[in-house]
Amino acid sequence: MSVRLDAMGNLLGFYPGIESNAPRLLLGSHLDTVPNAGAFDGILGVVIAVTLLEALDGRRLPFAIEVVGFSEEEGVRFGVPFLGSRALVGRVDEELLQARDAQGVSVRKAIEDFGLNTMEIPQARIAGDYLGYIEFHIEQGPVLEELGKPLAAVDSIAGQSRLEFTFLGRSNHAGTTPMHLRHDALAAAAEWIVAVERTALNATGLVASVGRIEAKPGASNVVCGEARLTLDVRHSSDETRINAVENFIGQAKHIAQRRGITVEWKARLDQRAVPMDARLVAEIERAIAVTGCAPHRMMSGAGHDAMIMAEKIPSAMIFLRTPGGISHDPAESVAVEDVEKAIECGLHLLDQLASLSSAFSSGVRERMGLA
Ligand SMILES: [Zn+2]
Repeated sequence: MSVRLDAMGNLLGFYPGIESNAPRLLLGSHLDTVPNAGAFDGILGVVIAVTLLEALDGRRLPFAIEVVGFSEEEGVRFGVPFLGSRALVGRVDEELLQARDAQGVSVRKAIEDFGLNTMEIPQARIAGDYLGYIEFHIEQGPVLEELGKPLAAVDSIAGQSRLEFTFLGRSNHAGTTPMHLRHDALAAAAEWIVAVERTALNATGLVASVGRIEAKPGASNVVCGEARLTLDVRHSSDETRINAVENFIGQAKHIAQRRGITVEWKARLDQRAVPMDARLVAEIERAIAVTGCAPHRMMSGAGHDAMIMAEKIPSAMIFLRTPGGISHDPAESVAVEDVEKAIECGLHLLDQLASLSSAFSSGVRERMGLA
């Protein structure tokens, strides 16, 4: 492969097809991860893609393959996920470049400090004829293990909302301020967190999490004056998700009002549920069946670069069973036999796409209005 790094920090390896103007298939996943992470989230999909090319042993296909290792998928540092894949679909704007991390460093500064030129980000955008994007990824949940299946075709990705809330009360002396005269921002936040949990518990398929809280001034002998929290809400129905977010905002306002404090919020992400490409999903199911595994379709509760890529090109994913459903944790693992099945499935898939590639590429042209 000829390897390059684009201006968003995505690492790409290009493996040419039989003809120089052959359409491209993108294969990959993300390179970054979360604090206290496991060893497989993201990177396994990149390693499987490289392994598939290794297994081709120089054999050329009717399409070129571009292996991509996406940068900054998780959104840990700047609170905004999918930075790398956004560059490939041309969705990096000034607001995104100005987003700041906890130290006040902007995305732009971080990229430039890394030695890349943000002026070149528009050139990272994919152009030309693409068959699609395929991503292998661990399931990061307990469903496949419960079903006793090593692999699944992902047919849709849940929509997600991420917001930041700030409860603003009044900090004061913890010894001299009587309970009824306090405006405790942290107590308000705590009440709201429990309300969010209760609401989500009573709604089918809804997941809502407050994953981070920061209390100011953060001293044991001071009533908290400011509490900043994150909220993450997901569902396969956009309508249900958006209504839930409205509900959580309403509850925050209600709690703040009753306690004589204020609350502010800022939406950080509003990502619609994304269906995967039906034809690719069907091909993946076929490839899974050829490996001798019973095919299974499922929704992804986690966001993935595939949902961003799906805006521009047909996209689909293959999930690998995740022991214990444990992810974003050092205990995250995969079974060697399951990875073997995934590689076998990937090779069948490449062969299927090779025999179908003319039909696929005309489908892509149709979709892009080029037919
Ligand atoms: Zn991931």
